[in-house]
Amino acid sequence: MSRKTKKARRSKTAATKTNREPKLCACGCGAKTSGSDFRMGHDQRLRGLIKRGETLKPESVAFLATRKSDPHYAAPKKVAV
Ligand SMILES: [Zn+2]
Repeated sequence: MSRKTKKARRSKTAATKTNREPKLCACGCGAKTSGSDFRMGHDQRLRGLIKRGETLKPESVAFLATRKSDPHYAAPKKVAV
């Protein structure tokens, strides 16, 4: 029973890593991430931009469009950059 659980967990992790490709940080700083939406800490940067009503970069707008149902457009905390 425990063996089965272990195996399932491992394959899920592997799939998550291999599916990730570098992309532009969603805060609009122009830096590339290692597959997550933001560089480390840049989710806070984007929240600050929104809070201050600053003009958002296209990548930020695109990111927010995918998080419409999430009031905090919460950063994926489990993802290490
Ligand atoms: Zn950034």
